Amino acid sequence: MNQQRHPREDTLTDIFGTQEMRCPAPTEFIPKGKTAPEVAYQLVKDETYPQTQPRLNLATFVTTYMDDYATRLMNEAINVNYIDETEYPRVAVMCGRCLNIIANLWNSPEKAEWKTGALGIGSSEACMLGGVAAWLRWRARRKAAGKPFDKPNLVMSSAFQVVWEKFCQLWQIELRTVPLDEQHPTLDIDAALKACDENTICIVPIAGVTWTGLDDDIEALDKALDAYNARTGYEIPIHVDAASGGFILPFLKPEKRWDFRLRWVLSISTSGHKYGLVYPGLGWVVWKDKKYLPDEMSFSVNYLGANITQVGLNFSRPAAQILGQYYNFIRLGFEGYKEIQQNSMDIAAYCHRAIGEMTCFRNFAKEVVNPLFIWSMDPAYEKTAKWTLFDLQAKLQQSGWMVPAYTMPANIEQLIVMRIVVRQGMSRDMADMLMGDIRNAVEEFEKLRYPTQSRLLFEKNEKQKGKVYTH
Ligand SMILES: *Cc1c(COP(=O)(O)O)cnc(C)c1O
Repeated sequence: MNQQRHPREDTLTDIFGTQEMRCPAPTEFIPKGKTAPEVAYQLVKDETYPQTQPRLNLATFVTTYMDDYATRLMNEAINVNYIDETEYPRVAVMCGRCLNIIANLWNSPEKAEWKTGALGIGSSEACMLGGVAAWLRWRARRKAAGKPFDKPNLVMSSAFQVVWEKFCQLWQIELRTVPLDEQHPTLDIDAALKACDENTICIVPIAGVTWTGLDDDIEALDKALDAYNARTGYEIPIHVDAASGGFILPFLKPEKRWDFRLRWVLSISTSGHKYGLVYPGLGWVVWKDKKYLPDEMSFSVNYLGANITQVGLNFSRPAAQILGQYYNFIRLGFEGYKEIQQNSMDIAAYCHRAIGEMTCFRNFAKEVVNPLFIWSMDPAYEKTAKWTLFDLQAKLQQSGWMVPAYTMPANIEQLIVMRIVVRQGMSRDMADMLMGDIRNAVEEFEKLRYPTQSRLLFEKNEKQKGKVYTH
């Protein structure tokens, strides 16, 4: 703020009459002097002003609505550091209770008073912990057998979330991916087992695939893996990445066997801040039993009236999300969660139907198994269209919606899709507004006399592959 303060300015000067409001904001160096708090507040607040309203952001899986009491609880805990368990032992107790509740939702067979698990900043940290445990268990077994342990690998579908790429890079584990194709829109189990060998630390099926919204068939994988392990003598386990599904399946499909009821499922991770319905900053991982959590990863605390095990990559972290999660469990109960998830499912299914009925679109899957789905342009329509889904994304952004368009992972990367994630806070009325905006946008695109830039680029790419599209 290098400009002179106006001589007329004083303590009664309005925020928008101050010098700061007519100067550029600091971008490189810390300002030399001070700024009145109300002015600084306004400057920072206004930085965020032109952004999407979080609830119109249908790209994210992460919670964008919590009720007033939850918000109050979390704001009131904003100064509490989770790691200071001695000072805030009740936070640790609530965390342990949340883990117990989640472990029981996933049918943990563990009999201990405190189930074995950990919290993380999100599924990413939770996945890493699950992955590290699998790697250390594999390594210990290899060491004990006097076999080499320098070439670990992990097997999952190519529709993995980026955390698995990070995990494998950071821990130097080979990531073996099984591609998706038309016949296998989810993990191809035979191909997954073919990719396994004595160095496979675990297979990671996904409940709520980020790219498609579908679920890998975990029960079938477990069955096939059981036969495979019996035949080979390996002990390849399953870690379920249930970032979304971990809070959908227990409420909407309690009879479906995807969790600790399955023999080889030894750990499961989820995002408390996705369908756990808590604001960002919360993930959970649970092991089937204490014996699957390598000792090197845990340390025990004894001031909770019992020993509880503590594990994590982070040290300091906010405690507020734990209060939010525990509040949700009490406030909503099983019935409440079920109602919210069912509404999200119904609204997603409604949008899925509406999109499917438009001649220009084709849904990726017939079914909606999680409250999210993807669709692409109808191939016949695409031949002569003057626009792409990227144009639709940009158009919808003008009315505040964020509906992402993207290309699919390797092997089906030519497919451009669009995704809607329905969460708590998306009503049927909002869905109708969105569908109206989509219909209007398409109507306008159909009036185009010339192809859009994005369409021209698409045609250029297609031409290189030998496909010729006209418009
Ligand atoms: C979102 C997601 C993650 C990462 O979760 P964060 O909570 O954002 O860290 C991992 N796996 C899957 C399948 C996801 O959808």
